[in-house]
Amino acid sequence: MAKRDLLEFTPKGIYCSKGRFYIDPWYPVDKAIISHAHSDHAYRGHRHYLTQKDGLPILQHRVGRSGAYFYGIDYNEILPINGVKVSLHPAGHILGSSQIRVEADEQVWVFSGDYKLEHDGISAPFETVPCDVFITESTFGLPCFQWEPQQNVFDEINTWWRYNRLQGITSILLGYSLGKAQRLLKGVDPSIGPLLAHGAIWNVTEVIRQQYPNLFPPLQKFSADIPKKDLIGSLVLAPPSAAGSPWINRFQPYRIGYASGWMSLRGIRRRRGADRGFILSDHADWPALQQAVQATGAKRIIVTHGFSAVFSRWLQEQGYEAQEARTTYGNEEEDLLGEAYE
Ligand SMILES: [Zn+2]
Ligand SMILES: [Zn+2]
Repeated sequence: MAKRDLLEFTPKGIYCSKGRFYIDPWYPVDKAIISHAHSDHAYRGHRHYLTQKDGLPILQHRVGRSGAYFYGIDYNEILPINGVKVSLHPAGHILGSSQIRVEADEQVWVFSGDYKLEHDGISAPFETVPCDVFITESTFGLPCFQWEPQQNVFDEINTWWRYNRLQGITSILLGYSLGKAQRLLKGVDPSIGPLLAHGAIWNVTEVIRQQYPNLFPPLQKFSADIPKKDLIGSLVLAPPSAAGSPWINRFQPYRIGYASGWMSLRGIRRRRGADRGFILSDHADWPALQQAVQATGAKRIIVTHGFSAVFSRWLQEQGYEAQEARTTYGNEEEDLLGEAYE
C-alpha cells in the first residue's frame, strides 16, 4: 500500500495528519507552524502559533496577541510533535523566515515558505535542507526574472536620491512594509540625507530595532509637525499603497521610486505611478529557484504560489516528479502576479 503523504493540501491549509498540525494555514486552526509573518502566510485566529524566535515579535505585532499562544524555537532545533520531528531552517526571505522540515516514517518533507538565496544582511542566510519532497514557492518562476546583485541596485537608488536632493526634490521610495522596507533602509547610504518613513513602515522597523538596536541607520517617523524645509531632499520610505493617496501630496515636489521584483515588467511601474523602478526582490529569481530545488536532492517537487504551472512543467521536463498545489499564498502586497496579467 502506498504511504500516505506526510503533508497534505487541505481546504484549511497544508496539514500533517500524523502530527495533527498545519503549516501556514489560511483558515483558523488549533496548531499552526508559521514560515514567516507576511499576511498571506500568517493569518489571524489560530490558537497556537509556532515560528522561529527572531520572527516571533513581528508575528505577534501582525496577528495580535490576544487569545492565542505563541512559541518561538531556534533554527535547527528539533521539536517532536506527536511522533513527527519538526525543525525550522533559514529561508533568507525576511527576518525569522523559515523553511519547515518535517520527518516521520523515514520520509523527509520540506516546505520552503518564501525564500531567496542572496544574503540580505538582515535575515539568516538561506540553507539547503536535503529532503525527499520539496514544496517550493515560484513567485518569480519565469525565465525573464533574473536579479542583479543587490549592491548594484542600492548604487542605483543612492544615485537617484542624490540627484533628486541636488534639485531640491524629495525621493519617495515604495517597498513592502515588512521585509523590503527594512532591506532598503539597510542598503541606502544615510550620509546622503535624512531618512524618513511612513508610520506603517516605522512601526514594523521599530519592532525589529528593539531586537537588534544597531541593525539600521537612524530613521525618523513621518509626522505632520515636521517643517517642510526638513523634508526637502530626504528619502521617504513608504508602502506601495501610499502612491496615489493624499498622504503623498505634502511631499511636493517629489519623485517616486518603487523597489520590487515586479519592476522588471514596465507596465506595472507605470500603472503604480512610479517614476523609477528598482528591481529588488526578497524572492528567488528563475536561476535561484532551479538551484534551490536541485540542491535539496528531492525527486518530488510540489510548486505552490507564483508561476506554478510554468515552473512545474519545466521541472517535469528535467525529470522531476512535479505537481502544482493550490494555496492562498501570494496575495501579499508584494505579490503582483494577478496585476501582471490583467
Ligand atoms: Zn513572504
Ligand atoms: Zn509567499
